[in-house]
Amino acid sequence: MRFETLCVHAGTGPDQVTGAVAPPIHLSTTFERDADGEFRRGFKYARDLNPTRQALERAMAAVEGGAAALAFASGQAATSAVFQALRPGDHVILPDAVYYGTPKLVQDLFVPWGLSCSTVRMDDLDAVRAAIRAETRLIWVETPSNPLLTITDIAGIVAIGRDAGARVAVDNTWATPVGQRPIELGADIAMHASTKYLGGHSDVMGGLLVAREDDEFFARVRSIQATAGGIAAPFDSWLILRGLKTLPWRVRAQTENARAVTSFLASHPRVSAVHYSGLASHAGHAIAARQMRLFGGMASFEVRGGRADAMGVASRCRVFTRATSLGGAESLIEHRASIEGPTTRAPEGLLRISLGLEHPDDLVEDLSEALG
Ligand SMILES: *Cc1c(COP(=O)(O)O)cnc(C)c1O
Repeated sequence: MRFETLCVHAGTGPDQVTGAVAPPIHLSTTFERDADGEFRRGFKYARDLNPTRQALERAMAAVEGGAAALAFASGQAATSAVFQALRPGDHVILPDAVYYGTPKLVQDLFVPWGLSCSTVRMDDLDAVRAAIRAETRLIWVETPSNPLLTITDIAGIVAIGRDAGARVAVDNTWATPVGQRPIELGADIAMHASTKYLGGHSDVMGGLLVAREDDEFFARVRSIQATAGGIAAPFDSWLILRGLKTLPWRVRAQTENARAVTSFLASHPRVSAVHYSGLASHAGHAIAARQMRLFGGMASFEVRGGRADAMGVASRCRVFTRATSLGGAESLIEHRASIEGPTTRAPEGLLRISLGLEHPDDLVEDLSEALG
């Protein structure tokens, strides 16, 4: 089955009892036992497993090309379950360019709990190799990354991980499975903040993990999901499953919009840099072109001057909304340094944009007027 067809049909089908074409939302927290006390229908209690969440998990495993998937209450809950499945004493390698919540999670929760952590430039394979220790068990990749769209060679990191006996997890939130499929490139886990493109309408929070193999490590992650209870709720699962059906077409349109907007910005005199891996001038363009099918709908640019000038541009936008997050129908613009706070690595003049589903000419005109 081709990708678009899979996104529409995976995990669902007409309801066996009623014939309903849209899947039902199962709210029941508890499920009837068989007369002999068994649970042959597969469901006992909704923290362990719920039919709506299961439909989403099955769909995502198929769409990412993995063996199994698990749905969580947020992207951070999903990421957290991966680190928690490691053992105290294990060492992890994080990228220096990454969603700021990931190192915050590791530093605030998992270093006190016993993990050790190194931070490296993930686009420098020699630096990654040099950071490997005997106890390294996980390499965390995010590509394209926050906020400079840094590109990491996934297959290159996988080779290093295999040699070291370390798993490779890829935060695939920005690329989406439409743009990039980390498991096909050898990664062990693909992670998503489904709050973003998978939900796609800025109205649901969620996280997903997809595993290449449903092995002993992923069994531990599943046990953390069920025991610690950071599960995706039935209605949230249903919204994300609904989002998945239109994902390929949304991301295609958002990529078109990113192409139009970044090529406009690249020639604007008030813009000192444009960060988009689809531009031939981007440092990671060649690797991105090799490992991505689409360059995606996220970009950032730097306004000459600095913080006040960037804030001024954002304040004059009428179509772009000033807000954090990404992946929805509405285009968003954000001054990244001020939302990330004092630990930020984002340049003060940088504005991050999430391209929505508006007409590209309206987006270009809006930025043109805002830049003056
Ligand atoms: C938003 C985001 C997360 C965190 O997801 P939440 O749903 O907000 O917990 C993780 N990684 C990336 C790349 C993100 O954009």
